[in-house]
Amino acid sequence: MVVTANANDANRAQPFVVVIAYIIAYLVLDYVSYLKPYGTFGVTPWNPQSGLDVALIYLGGPVYGPLVLSAAAMADYVLRGGPLAWYLEIASSITLGAIYVAAGTFLRRLPDFDPRLRTSRDVTILIAVAATTATLAAVLYTSVIDLGGELGRGEFGYVSWRGFVGDFIGILVVTPIIFLVATLRPWPRIGRDWYLQLISIIAVTFVIFGYREATAFQLFYLMFLPLLWVALRYGTPGAALALSVIQVGLVIGSEVRFGNDPGLAAMQTLMIALAVTGLIVGAIVSERETASARIRDQQAALSSALRVRAAGEIAAAIGHEINQPLAAIKTYASVASNAVRNGQDALAREALDKLTVQSDRAARVIKSIRDLLRQGSCELSPLEITKMLDKFVDLFSSDLAAKGVSLTANVPEEFQVVMADKIQLTQALHNLVTNSCDAILSARSYGHISIVVTCAQDDWFAIAVLDDGPGFPMGFNTLEPNLFVTTKPEGSGIGLSIARTIAEAHGGRLEIETSLRGACVRMVLPKMRAKNEPDSLHH
Ligand code: ADP
Repeated sequence: MVVTANANDANRAQPFVVVIAYIIAYLVLDYVSYLKPYGTFGVTPWNPQSGLDVALIYLGGPVYGPLVLSAAAMADYVLRGGPLAWYLEIASSITLGAIYVAAGTFLRRLPDFDPRLRTSRDVTILIAVAATTATLAAVLYTSVIDLGGELGRGEFGYVSWRGFVGDFIGILVVTPIIFLVATLRPWPRIGRDWYLQLISIIAVTFVIFGYREATAFQLFYLMFLPLLWVALRYGTPGAALALSVIQVGLVIGSEVRFGNDPGLAAMQTLMIALAVTGLIVGAIVSERETASARIRDQQAALSSALRVRAAGEIAAAIGHEINQPLAAIKTYASVASNAVRNGQDALAREALDKLTVQSDRAARVIKSIRDLLRQGSCELSPLEITKMLDKFVDLFSSDLAAKGVSLTANVPEEFQVVMADKIQLTQALHNLVTNSCDAILSARSYGHISIVVTCAQDDWFAIAVLDDGPGFPMGFNTLEPNLFVTTKPEGSGIGLSIARTIAEAHGGRLEIETSLRGACVRMVLPKMRAKNEPDSLHH
């Protein structure tokens, strides 16, 4: 049994209150359903007490067994003064009670049965249990009555059939409502259409019983319309509620219309079809709602995970890109402070100038990352690639040379000016060159990096960073480098991702080629025409 918080609530209810509530409910249901009893032993066409018994045992446990075993006899004595011989009253009450106790206990023991009836599996289980219980109860009860000599010849089949229909409908109509009231939280919000649905159920009841007696059974099928409307709109809870209303309407209608005629018993047979259809359609609707709610939850969880990841990405991106200028600032600050101490004014000024340049760079980096992450776009302006690369090589080559790595840049004459975001492009190049340098130095103490600009097709150009290092590690996803994948002890695994984001923000892409002789990481970018630039500059 799926013990839900709500089922626990029901379990926790004071046993004394439960006993009193059960006795009152049992007597009321028995009283109002004691219509068209068959013979003195009163097999009625609608036996809602069976549904009450199964629900009580399921929700409260077999401890309520003795109550259920004695309930039928108690009600017979209280309401009708005990029409059968005392031993028959006791035997039949215990027989019926034992079957309902067994049914409730069976449901309790079923793994995964959910009393909220939100899946067609749960509803199918309930219907199967109801059918089996009703069959056993009808046959055993009728046998007890037969053994007691109360049945006439040839009555066994008819009486058992009536008993079966009464119990089956009793469980199908009453048990779901009690299960749902006890365990379903929250109930679907009732919209205005519920009142229309209620009115149409009442209207159809009037049509069924009001038109002509003879046509009542044919018109009964009209009841499928409002029932399916409710089931499709509100799922199992709606179907269960509508079935109770319909059942009460049928009981009142046939009482008024058919009088002593056993019409209700025949109508109850049709009610079985209605109840089974309504509950199954309702469950299918509830199942779909649960599935789509689950998908919504998963999407919400995913997008919150993505937000957290994005926040982490931003933090990591800033850390990654700002570390270098910060380290340089620290170095220049200590150079300046030593120079001041030693009275070397010129050196101090030079160090402070360089410090200012680095701190400006840090500020620009932050701004550009912020803009990039915020909009995923970049500020395009005419950029002279040759000049930009010259400056880049100037800035980094001495650092690289100190480590044994040479850096060159090669730009063909014809497309000196492109539309690009200078800071972002420099940023991407910086990441790629740093990666190349790390790769080279991981294998040996010297190497070469070249930045090569090519114009492969008319509308595209490429900036490639080539190195003669060991190439990308085996198994590295070069088609789509994953964020935070790094092979370096101090690495953050976002350098390539930033370069790719920058290439994509320019409308281009990042390509990686690798072999044992080295790696080539290429930003392929659209060659956008700078405004007011002559065509010749763009090839
Ligand atoms: P990080 O540099 O912090 O490790 P990156 O995203 O820049 O993060 O790179 C991810 C990984 O890709 C590196 O750890 C390295 O294994 C590999 N890689 C990147 N560039 C090269 C290259 N030019 N040659 C060989 N491997 C490289």
